[in-house]
Amino acid sequence: MYTSEPAKYPQRADIGQTSRVLVVEDEELIREMLVLALEEEGYDVVTANDGRTAVEHLKSYDSVNAEAPFDLVVLDLMLPQINGLDICRLLRHQGNPVPILMLSAKGSETDRVLGLEVGADDYLTKPFSVRELVARCRALLRRQRLSTLPPAPVLQYKEVTLYPQECRVLVRGQEVNLSPKEFRLLELFMSYARRVWSREQLLDQVWGPDFVGDSKTVDVHIRWLREKLEKDPSRPEYIVTVRGFGYRFG
Ligand code: CA
Repeated sequence: MYTSEPAKYPQRADIGQTSRVLVVEDEELIREMLVLALEEEGYDVVTANDGRTAVEHLKSYDSVNAEAPFDLVVLDLMLPQINGLDICRLLRHQGNPVPILMLSAKGSETDRVLGLEVGADDYLTKPFSVRELVARCRALLRRQRLSTLPPAPVLQYKEVTLYPQECRVLVRGQEVNLSPKEFRLLELFMSYARRVWSREQLLDQVWGPDFVGDSKTVDVHIRWLREKLEKDPSRPEYIVTVRGFGYRFG
């Protein structure tokens, strides 16, 4: 049974460009279902009905510039002409690092092991739920994106230093403990020094658009942050109140 439950979580727009997914599947029903589900996720989907077409699509991989035309390949194992294992092997042999999610009708352990051995990143056995497949795709794309993202720079202003990757903050050389929200708030402030933020904008950026609650939440967190950053929280030099507008860093 192929069930197409609605996605559990609303899809947040991915950072930057749309991900391109190649779906290689010879069974029309499954292919159509995959296309629908992945397009609903906001991905650009290209399909191939057989192994040879898939290889054609993937040929455009440019190993010099390392520009893969696809961000993810959903690859059925049993295909006409060239099977999924061989395609996988070929791609890895060419040095193409595109994440591959392999699908198989057989639930045998050997297939799974073989699939992963030839370089697939993940493996799903038919029948699978669409939600499961979409979740796996999302995870693979996220993982890939993280590995290609340049490391976030260390942020520094006067005597405050924030290490985004380590989630650490030093104030006057001393490490301070911030809650995740305080950290996000400070990171946002420091990323846009001197920019004035309204409480609503801060709520939206740090708590997310789905947050229900009032802007007093922002004031409370600002107070806590000031206590941790400022020499004299009643006369702040880092997080400054801009009367009638909101807050500013620096
Ligand atoms: Ca097949």
